[in-house]
Order: sequence, then structure tokens, then C-alpha cells
Amino acid sequence: MTVMSTAEPARPANGTPPDNRGSADHPAVLRRMAERTLAWTGPIVVVAHVDPDGDALGSSLALARALRQLGKRAVVVMEPPRYLAFLAEPGELSPALDALEPDTLVYALDAGDPQRVWGVPLDQAAAVFNVDHHGTNTRFGDLAVVEPSKAACALLVKELIDLLGAEWDAAIATPCLTGILTDTGNFRHGNTSREALETAGELIDHGVDYVALTDRLQWRHPRYFHLLGEVMRTVRYDLDGQLVTAYVTEAMRAEAGAELDDSEDFVGLIRNAEGIKVAALLKERAGSVKVSVRARDGASAQRICLELGGGGHVAAAGATVEGDLEAARAALTAATARELARLREAAVADPAG
Ligand code: AMP
Ligand code: MN
Ligand code: MN
Repeated sequence: MTVMSTAEPARPANGTPPDNRGSADHPAVLRRMAERTLAWTGPIVVVAHVDPDGDALGSSLALARALRQLGKRAVVVMEPPRYLAFLAEPGELSPALDALEPDTLVYALDAGDPQRVWGVPLDQAAAVFNVDHHGTNTRFGDLAVVEPSKAACALLVKELIDLLGAEWDAAIATPCLTGILTDTGNFRHGNTSREALETAGELIDHGVDYVALTDRLQWRHPRYFHLLGEVMRTVRYDLDGQLVTAYVTEAMRAEAGAELDDSEDFVGLIRNAEGIKVAALLKERAGSVKVSVRARDGASAQRICLELGGGGHVAAAGATVEGDLEAARAALTAATARELARLREAAVADPAG
């Protein structure tokens, strides 16, 4: 099983540009995936990345529901954050699995490498199909379709469901549209494309209640707003105002309510600070700090996060840094300073560019 060959991810060395090109043969590989899936007689387990977001859960639910409609035994293994949990039916999601049944096909969605896949022992899978849109994806699995030009993994899942020949209905279209909505920040981020908008329109035609969905996706726990206030007090500017950061400590989260894992979108607020090129939210966890980075104006969050040992997209990326908040901030600031210097040098070399 070829997933074993990826035990050591082919992560680009620090600072080297990741491969943000898609594979020219992606339609053919996706067709092959659909054919093999339709012929698959064993169980199918759909998983995505750790700390799942709307694209991870939405892509997974859409695919698993389409597969079940086609008569397959398909389950999503995931523990979503509470603001997304409404998308799944009660009992529809499985907790993490220690073991896989024989002859299990695993779909890994929206996850750049096997270490980021949550909830299954991938090495026990009879086959692994990797569907993703992160340029830093290591192209793991028996079949891999990686398209960094796609705004969301859900756009690839939409193509796959079409190829599988499932009949679209609101139950499949709603989570699929969720993936597009959340990864484009409701069509506000730079990855918003004609394809994303057109596919959204197509999905709405399949019966999604668009107004109810976008409204519900923005609901937050009442205590969320207290935490938001605390976090926004920590906003700070560095590197001549080009880097904005804020942080969440474990104490702040405990104060607000430990189950509040809704802080993922705080970085989406500070990225709107005028004049910045890079925004980062530092989230303290036991012994490490999760760094969420957003970039604009040619700066690459992806390069910054690769330096920190993580990955992601050019505009949005993440990493987990060992140590405390101050160590993480120092590493982030240094990596950002290097990225901004690279930008200045590129502008001198190609003033028109
Ligand atoms: P986040 O800041 O967690 O919202 O992540 C932004 C983007 O980068 C998402 O597409 C994540 O899947 C991706 N990402 C976050 N952390 C990592 C990591 N450690 N390695 C690779 N990709 C990551
Ligand atoms: Mn994601
Ligand atoms: Mn995604």
C-alpha cells in the first residue's frame, strides 16, 4: 500500500517554494478514483485534517452522503468544532478509529500530509485516495488529486460526486456549499473564483437554503464574544505596521469556557487591519503554539509557515511551533521579516511586476 511510502512526508525543505501547480492529469485521476470507488465492495471511511474547518467537514459529509446514496457503506470519522456540528445528523459522525476493518478504502480530504489526517490508522487502509487543494500537499496515497487553484476541497468533491453519478439533493449540496463558503470567507477572500461562484449557484439550485446556511454558519456561542473582546485587546503591530498579531492563552479560553473552539476565525478579523501584509493569531496549547497566518499584497503565508514547519496556501497557512507564546512570536516575526524582505527584493528586481 503506497501510503507507507509517505511515512516521511516529502515536505519541501525550509523556505523552498512548494508546488502550487495542479496536476495536468487531474480529470483522469478523478475519473479513475470514481471508477475504483464504484467498484469498491468494502467499507469506505472519509476523513480530513486535524482541527477540522467548514471545508474539511463539508467535503467529507457531502462525499459520504453521496456514497451512501449509491449503496456504499461510508462513514465520516471526525469531531467538528461546535459551530459546525449542526451540519451533521445525530450519530452521523464516528469518533476516531483505532483499527480499520479489512478492505477499507480511506478518502483523505483537505489534508496536506498523512500526519495531518485525523482519526484513522492510515497504514491499515487497503487503499488511500487523497483529494486536496493545498500546494504543500505531499501527494501521498494510492491516488492523489491535488489542485491548489481550487478555492476549496469541496470544489473537487463536487466534481467527484458528479463523476460518481450520485443524484444531487439538499443533504449533499448543503455541506458541499459550506466548504466553498468557509474557505472563501463567504466569497470575500482572494481565492474567490468564477468557478466557486458558479458552483455555489449550481448547489443552491439543488435545494440549499442559502440564507439559512450562511446565517447559521456565523452563529457563535454567547461566551465567544467575551473571548473575542479579550483576544482583541492583545492586538499588536510589528515590522513597521506590516505584521499584526493577536493571541489566545489557555487561561483566556478556560475563562470563556473550555469547550470554546470557535476562535479559529479571529485571524480573519485582524487580517482587515489597514496597511498590514501579514496577520497572525497565536493560540497557546499545552507545550506548543498553533499559529494561523493570513497574507496579502504578494506576501506568502505559505512560505512563512513552511519556515515554521507547517504548510497551507499562499493566502492562508498554519503551523504548530514548540514552546511558549513569546518563542512562537519571535519565530513568526523573524519568518515574516524574511518574507517581507523577499518581497522588497522581488520588487527591486522587477519593478513592473
Ligand atoms: P488555519 O490557520 O488553521 O485556518 O489554516 C490555514 C490553512 O493552512 C488551512 O488550509 C489549513 O489546512 C492549513 N494548515 C494549517 N496548519 C497547517 C500545518 N501545520 N501544516 C499544513 N497545513 C496547515
Ligand atoms: Mn481546511
Ligand atoms: Mn480547504
